Amino acid sequence: MIVDKYNRVHNYLRISLTDNCNLRCFYCMPEEEYEFTAASKLMQKEEIEALSKIFVSLGVNKIRLTGGEPLVRKDAGEIIRSLSKLPIKLTITTNGSRLHEFVDILEESRVHSLNISLDTLQPEKFNLITRRDQFKQVYNNIQLLLKRNFHVKVNMVVMKGLNESEINDFVEWTKEQPVHVRFIEFMPFTGNRWTSNKVFTMQEMLEVIRKKYDVIRLQDEKHDTSKGYMVTGHQGTFAIISTMSANFCGDCNRLRLTADGKMKNCLFAEKETDLLSALRRGEDVIPLIHQNIRSKAKELGGQFTADFEHLHPEEIHNRSMITIGG
Ligand code: SAM
Ligand code: SF4
Repeated sequence: MIVDKYNRVHNYLRISLTDNCNLRCFYCMPEEEYEFTAASKLMQKEEIEALSKIFVSLGVNKIRLTGGEPLVRKDAGEIIRSLSKLPIKLTITTNGSRLHEFVDILEESRVHSLNISLDTLQPEKFNLITRRDQFKQVYNNIQLLLKRNFHVKVNMVVMKGLNESEINDFVEWTKEQPVHVRFIEFMPFTGNRWTSNKVFTMQEMLEVIRKKYDVIRLQDEKHDTSKGYMVTGHQGTFAIISTMSANFCGDCNRLRLTADGKMKNCLFAEKETDLLSALRRGEDVIPLIHQNIRSKAKELGGQFTADFEHLHPEEIHNRSMITIGG
């Protein structure tokens, strides 16, 4: 088992397949001139398999593939197929733009539930946020997946002054379709233009929603990072991920592997452990995994607290989101 000094058992691994992406969301990938990691420095397919098997042998039973955009990687289909043979729940977080090419593979690999990011229902605003003209493709792919009976969670990063006015449009979407919207509080990462006054908190979101709808609180599952709700009579649900205003670190079971093979025990952890280089040298990585987890901070990578109003993002030592794997 992978246990930290606060007795938290870690059985959920998020693997970034690449830091490359076909969108350019400003809150995730700061600069247009960002240089993607060279393919030789990324974990190769066999290395992803080998490390995954080691984590599974230590008790991991859920793996999420993420990135960058996991589905821009050329061998993404093969990796999905291969990991689906492990005794785990396999899932993926994607920007949705390439899902039409992967829907059969996902079905064959029993990836029934997946997260698709969409921050706005307005095509113009989508172009502004992602700097790419892909709204229609993403929206149509969400419809395709719903038609094929996938459990679709839509991730919306809520940013004050940009898209908080659309919260109820997303809630309205859950009326006729079984989509599960997840409103995410805007988080600070290196160079992502975060300021505390752009955070629209869970409390503020609920106020907006309750003004228009009768809302029921749902029972969350163990280790859920989101607080679930639904509107009476709607087919879908919504949930809020309140990392900034009310974190859920006390029950954290997550580990991360960056695309270049570094283990991170928290999204906000400064410390990284280079598992890939050790694997390439033929060394045993298990002691490194245990060592890394023992250094896990109690909350938020030990870098800030829920009192985020006075936080300056440059005080946080971390990578940009696209290089961590969200
Ligand atoms: N490319 C895929 C996608 O967009 O879903 C997977 C990687 S992306 C880094 C994973 C998730 O992190 C997305 O839902 C994205 O919206 C979210 N994310 C990125 N930067 C964020 C930030 N600064 N605050 C909150 N969520 C963020
Ligand atoms: Fe790409 Fe996802 Fe980051 Fe947007 S949030 S730039 S789609 S990795």
